[in-house]
Amino acid sequence: MGRLATHISAPMRRERRTLRVMLSTGAHPGRRYRPLSDSSPRCARAAVAATASISGLAPHPKRSPAPAAGWFLAASTLILMLPTIAGCKPRNTPATTPQMDTAPGYWVRVLLINDAHGFDLSLETGFAVAATGAESPPQAFARQDGPMRVSVVAGRISIADLPVHAFEVDILPDPPHIIGIDGSGHRGQLRICVNPDGRTLDAINMVPLEPYLAGVVGAEMPQYWEPAALQAQAIAARTYCLYTKRRFGKGRTWDLSRTQASQVYKGVDGETERVWDAVNQTRGMVLTTPNRDGQTDLFPAYYSSTCGGHTENCENVFGEAFSALMGVPCPYCKDVARPGSFFWPVVRMDKARVAELLAARYPRLRRLGQVAAIAPADVSRYDKFSRITRLELRGENGVDYLRGEDFRLTLDPSGRQLRSAACEIHENADQWEFQAGRGWGHGVGMCQCGAQGMARQGKTAEQILLHYYSNAKLVRLY
Ligand SMILES: [Zn+2]
Repeated sequence: MGRLATHISAPMRRERRTLRVMLSTGAHPGRRYRPLSDSSPRCARAAVAATASISGLAPHPKRSPAPAAGWFLAASTLILMLPTIAGCKPRNTPATTPQMDTAPGYWVRVLLINDAHGFDLSLETGFAVAATGAESPPQAFARQDGPMRVSVVAGRISIADLPVHAFEVDILPDPPHIIGIDGSGHRGQLRICVNPDGRTLDAINMVPLEPYLAGVVGAEMPQYWEPAALQAQAIAARTYCLYTKRRFGKGRTWDLSRTQASQVYKGVDGETERVWDAVNQTRGMVLTTPNRDGQTDLFPAYYSSTCGGHTENCENVFGEAFSALMGVPCPYCKDVARPGSFFWPVVRMDKARVAELLAARYPRLRRLGQVAAIAPADVSRYDKFSRITRLELRGENGVDYLRGEDFRLTLDPSGRQLRSAACEIHENADQWEFQAGRGWGHGVGMCQCGAQGMARQGKTAEQILLHYYSNAKLVRLY
């Protein structure tokens, strides 16, 4: 165990028992060659969760850019230079997938592919295919040469020329338990299911928590950052994952998406030795805070790229209060974020376009008629820093309100231009101008660039986390 373990106090250890009970639910693959406990014959079309976007840092090409694209392009290039075909693995990462025998509450179901007509499946080992709900045992297959095309034929899963025809199947690879999906390796197992339309499929990676995190940390943070920052990221991601799994996983066939709608997950492609060190040195560690009943509990340990100088109360951004998610000063991110990310340039948008986007996302706003004025209704003001948390939209037929973050992401879903709600809104002829913008992301919880800034100053992961998640406690679950 790494140095964080030395910070675990007796009260923390006592809290483990409570948390174990809380986490003991949730579907998982159980032991090998056994389908998930979810016996639905096919996937219900899962409603896309309204879990908040938690990071502007992730270098996903479509959803969110990095605050300093150059760094991430460089990091991504280095990572991609490593072997990533299924069965291969980056150097210095675990030869075989750990935790395959872990308890049910510590498996994660990640939605990798949704509403697709097919994908390429590669396995460098033998494997078994288990049809969900079937009484017959899983069918074992020897290693196949080359990728196998997975598609939907006559409403059922088809895998190349294998004798598999079911609504839903689990792919169970032999050790090292790595599956290639369109050329990218993912650890654990894979569930494939036909959607109710009978024409498209979803693919869900079922992976133990620690290898899941290894695929997250390097995707959410440059892997060359300070170890303490990477460790803080691992603990925040572990906490967010378990909280989200418990809160949303029961009602759908997956726990998290692989994008920044949850937290970015790249599977084996995101792994490096430094990332695995951060995961292993914080193994089983999560953050807790008292819930409304006064009991110790997990919370959604949000994080975002660059707060701009002060983080924000969760309630002001997402409408839900957690005692560990209160705004705190952050003098640390300014020296880490690139100037163009810390202070973002003026954004101009045509008024007509703004009205169109708002009406499309929020049909209720159509009753306002033409929006004549947009002004901050609530602003969080801190020393030399402010963030719009609620906006007033005034039209010819009345007034309505939107949260600052909802307004921003309606106008710019990628967040590439309107990078935060810490800005000023001005009217200029036919345009709205967003000026004096600072930071990148929603600003709730840990500031990732700030975490790196603190780590550069010699702060430990625990010190970083307890700065951004005030009143939180660090607990080891296992
Ligand atoms: Zn910051």
